[in-house]
Amino acid sequence: MNIDKLDHRLVIKGATLPDGTTSDVLVQDGIVAELGKVSTRADQTIDADGLRLLPGLVDVHTHLREPGREDAETVLTGSRAAAVGGYTAVLAMANTNPVTDTAEAAERVYDLGRAAGLVDVQPVGAVTKGLAGEELAELGLMARSRAKVRVFSDDGKCVHDPRVMRRALEYVKAFGGVVSQHSQDPALAGPTACCHEGELSGQLGLPGWPGVAEEVIVARDVMLARHTGSRVHVAHVSTAGSVEVVRWAKAQGIAVTAEVTPHHLMLTTDLLTGYDPTYKVNPPLRPDEDVQALREALADGTIDAVATDHAPHARQDKEHAFVDAAFGMLGLETALPVVTTVMVGSGLLDWAGVARVMSANPARIAGLDGEHGRPIAVGEPANLTLVDPTAQVVVDRAASLSLSRNNPWHDRLLTGRIVATLLRGTPTVLEGELA
Ligand SMILES: [Zn+2]
Repeated sequence: MNIDKLDHRLVIKGATLPDGTTSDVLVQDGIVAELGKVSTRADQTIDADGLRLLPGLVDVHTHLREPGREDAETVLTGSRAAAVGGYTAVLAMANTNPVTDTAEAAERVYDLGRAAGLVDVQPVGAVTKGLAGEELAELGLMARSRAKVRVFSDDGKCVHDPRVMRRALEYVKAFGGVVSQHSQDPALAGPTACCHEGELSGQLGLPGWPGVAEEVIVARDVMLARHTGSRVHVAHVSTAGSVEVVRWAKAQGIAVTAEVTPHHLMLTTDLLTGYDPTYKVNPPLRPDEDVQALREALADGTIDAVATDHAPHARQDKEHAFVDAAFGMLGLETALPVVTTVMVGSGLLDWAGVARVMSANPARIAGLDGEHGRPIAVGEPANLTLVDPTAQVVVDRAASLSLSRNNPWHDRLLTGRIVATLLRGTPTVLEGELA
């Protein structure tokens, strides 16, 4: 199709909006131009009978591996996976090689994202130089760069030194930034920890990663956030104890937000009995009582957002004995179906809730809420995701658009399918496939 983009009128016909009302949506000039019964002549029509229209999904925690490990993922291949997963914006974590710890490095990732053009790729800046945990990275220069970095994280590693964490929180406060912490006390978890510490880790003979190693850092950081009056974000909350701390901190008015991954909402530590490294992830899969607490916390707003922690790995890094394999799982293409299956299917969240935890809240946390996570209303940017809420799909890892295949959802039946994704009014995905 070669229609002038400015004149192009796209109509989404009969979509069900997050609040349950049904409406046509006229998309023109990159914005939602009309709602209700649209009778304007359309150049392109998407039949949305029985489908849910959401604001485009936003992921505050993605690993795109470029630069450094382009054999596992690139900004382009990760953007493709994100688009078919319903995302219109993703935050690319800083633990690349070289690390995103300078303005130039951040702008490079930003530019690669704009060149790919499928989702807005927003770089996360490292908190410390080289993720070494000692000296603060160029936080201010990254914030003032073209990439306008607002989220800082040493993810993969914990900012363990409390003085460094305190100074980072003080620094980012000046420009409305946030520190996203990978909460893992390295002394408590130990250098080889790779499995939830409990009865099962003993039986399997795997070094344990106790929940308290996460909880003590979450507790410390909310106190540092209170002390500095700054914002802290807890990445991939995995235990009921961390949920309790975040709930308490929010009740005190402390500026803390938290995310949970799809895998921690559904998968449990007993999957490790086969020593399959596909299920090796950091923080580790936890027992069912933690999973239940995480679901309830996401439903009641204690946990603000679902974030994928999409962590592609090349075969040679993942296909090892369990203790030696790399940590991490794919997540971009399956996040919405997992949330539909465990949260909507159980009645814990309605679709307005899904829009909140997968779009509005993550956009706000990342400072992207001028453009993403907006309500579906006339005049708003047309960043949109169309979902078939009842489609049942068996996940096939071979069908993934990611360069990697470490997909823990392979062969699982999930409910919910992305039908279309629009970035500023332009379809990036149609009929479930890249447009
Ligand atoms: Zn992490």
